[in-house]
Amino acid sequence: MSGRAQLMWDEAVTGYDFGRDHPMDPVRLHLTRRLVDAFGLDREVDVVAAKAAGESTLRLVHREDYIEAVRAASADPASADGSYGIGTLDDPAFAGMHEVSALIAGQSVGAAEAVWRGEALHAVNFAGGLHHAMPGGASGFCIYNDAALAIARLLELGAERVAYIDVDVHHGDGVQAVFWENPRVLTISLHEHPRTLFPQTGWPEETGAETAQGSAVNVALPAGTGDAGWLRAFHAVVPELIADFRPQVLVTQHGADTHFEDPLAHFAVSLDAQRAVQVACHDLAHEYADGRWVALGGGGYAVVEVVPRSWTHLVAIAAGREIAPETVIPESWRQEVFARTRQLAPARMTDGRWPVPWASWEAGYDPADRLDQAVLATRRAVFPLRGLLT
Ligand SMILES: [Zn+2]
Repeated sequence: MSGRAQLMWDEAVTGYDFGRDHPMDPVRLHLTRRLVDAFGLDREVDVVAAKAAGESTLRLVHREDYIEAVRAASADPASADGSYGIGTLDDPAFAGMHEVSALIAGQSVGAAEAVWRGEALHAVNFAGGLHHAMPGGASGFCIYNDAALAIARLLELGAERVAYIDVDVHHGDGVQAVFWENPRVLTISLHEHPRTLFPQTGWPEETGAETAQGSAVNVALPAGTGDAGWLRAFHAVVPELIADFRPQVLVTQHGADTHFEDPLAHFAVSLDAQRAVQVACHDLAHEYADGRWVALGGGGYAVVEVVPRSWTHLVAIAAGREIAPETVIPESWRQEVFARTRQLAPARMTDGRWPVPWASWEAGYDPADRLDQAVLATRRAVFPLRGLLT
């Protein structure tokens, strides 16, 4: 097995572009890739362009009529009328939409194949993590659900247990829905409470179908959750479940929209806490999945200030060459950011909150605290189903 991680990348993924004024600006992918290079990480990983997901792969998750609708909208964007969620404000149709969405899905599927076959221990596709797409419809800026496709491909290759951890500020509803009835896949999503944020699902009581009770886990955290609460909640729920489930592969989604600068949600998480969770996911993969780790991007709409730094940390962690938080960002990248966006780029790989303090659940909890209530609701709903103590 190669000791090097794979970074999945085809320049054409930056064509995933819903147009001007849409929050998911592909400049975030471009600037992330450039920052990875500015730190020389492209020489520390194998940069691999996988082929686009073909029809039979897409069909592992998506309905034939939906794929047909995406193809039609892709060929003639003006014809999209909102059916199948395409041609809406969130998911406008654009020329080539099918091709680029299938290409992004192909990178996640390729990452899963490389990790399963031992060609790489870790593989990262930060253009992926499009977790809202449903089997039969587009949703929340997501056309094809590359995360679900990667997991489905792992099952097809023979994996018996795959764990999925989703720390995007939004509920990982599409991935949960795809594997709702499947006990071979454990989905865990930490997100802002459905009462205050799209997609209004991800309640603690959503725990999986009758055939798969306890295979869906939802931690619905209050708006305003910051570093200490977010890390406390992650560690109060995730490691115990992963230790119990013993996945053969860990798939993680690292939407950067938990950040306090993010314009679309209401968490107050810093880059430093995001990095701490990335490190924790990497550690979990080594501890319980023989190191097999597929790491994906996701949401993130502070496209200059947050996303490139967050996912460059992710690539560095996968490459085994962590970037220390206080590290100064290369001037060449900052100049490129200004030239492209007329925005001032951040100067360091930290928000100045490192090391992030947080209190462990084992030391006790406060039933009157809203964060602790959220954690308790999840533990009470799910832990007994898995034979774990609440
Ligand atoms: Zn999101």
